Amino acid sequence: MISLMMFLVFASLTVNIAVGCYFFALAKSQIETRVFSLWAASCFIYSLGMAFNVTGLLSDIASLFYFVASFLLLDGLLLLNDSSIAARLKVMSRYALGVGTVAIVLAILFSRHHQAVTSFAISTMFLLSSVSFSVQQGQTLHAVRRFFKALLMVHAIVMVCQSGLLAFGERVVIESALYEITGVGIAAHIALCIITSVLLPFIVVLQQKEKWQNLANYDGLTGLYGRRAFIRQALEQLAQRDESPCTLMVIDVDHFKTINDQYGHPTGDRVLKVIATELRNEVEGTHIIGRLGGEEFAILVSNVSKLETFKLADLLRRKVEALEIEADNEIITVTISIGMTFSSNVEETWHTLFNRADTELYNAKARGRNQISPRLQVVA
Ligand code: GH3
Ligand code: MG
Ligand code: MG
Repeated sequence: MISLMMFLVFASLTVNIAVGCYFFALAKSQIETRVFSLWAASCFIYSLGMAFNVTGLLSDIASLFYFVASFLLLDGLLLLNDSSIAARLKVMSRYALGVGTVAIVLAILFSRHHQAVTSFAISTMFLLSSVSFSVQQGQTLHAVRRFFKALLMVHAIVMVCQSGLLAFGERVVIESALYEITGVGIAAHIALCIITSVLLPFIVVLQQKEKWQNLANYDGLTGLYGRRAFIRQALEQLAQRDESPCTLMVIDVDHFKTINDQYGHPTGDRVLKVIATELRNEVEGTHIIGRLGGEEFAILVSNVSKLETFKLADLLRRKVEALEIEADNEIITVTISIGMTFSSNVEETWHTLFNRADTELYNAKARGRNQISPRLQVVA
């Protein structure tokens, strides 16, 4: 039994040091540096605690090291999550660290049950870790994320059971069984450490990739497609279409400079966001919409007749005209001009289409703004 325990302790030490070095190397390679530094520190502090425990040197404070290690794992996970729940969990984790540290120190000084207290304190950190590890809509690797979340929860439950048995177990089970329970705790930790070292870097790198893709594809202010992503999507759509024509609408906010000059750039930004939301609400899911830059938007309308496209453009124009945006106790109103071009030729390039729509936009501006160009020709 002793030899098995020695094996577990040795394995745990080796695994933690190896994983700590691996995380440290990732941090040094500038991959989520803060997150991997915290996790590397978590592994090293856990190993240090274990070394104290094995050598008998300062073995009493080893518990505190294990607890701090579990806090560092949580702290790293919280950095990966930028939701409002994570902000609240961050505050809770600080409280848990403070309360847990005091409880463990008091238990070391005055109680036989400091290991039970430590296991319980660690379980709260794993519980918070499981809650913090959010699985959001649209993220890749859903199954892997859920598995990791469940793993953290299982570890929290193992720790609670261990705590209960260490505190009250001697009344029901013999001492050697308690020894085994400690062994199970260490084995569970080794398993968690190995799985973590495989899964976390994988999840982190994919999360980073998703973030970069979002940054590259979406406009930070309005959340619409950025210029390049819009053009790419539009070209794909143009290539896919069958007989039905497509329409490119280029939309420009009228006299937007005056809004910036009068109310300031931040208010100008807010106006752009409101306009973008209004436009998106009318077309999203049916047509492709993006922000080409500045106060200029574009929509690629497909599978809609010319008449319906004119109606849609006029609806957008009227919707924006009717907006009332509050700023400095005043109501701001805005208008847009829309240039449109119809395309039924698959060979047309983005530049030809855009230049034609832009010329129409220029015409709409020249005619006095708050208009659509070309105008709908009604043939009698
Ligand atoms: P027109 O009716 O001829 O389009 O007049 P305009 O004032 O809208 O056009 P102009 O091109 O003269 O000015 C566009 C302004 O849009 C200038 C620029 O400072 C502002 N702008 C561009 N991008 C942003 C942005 O992201 N936020 C804010 N607040 N302003 C922006
Ligand atoms: Mg413009
Ligand atoms: Mg403008």
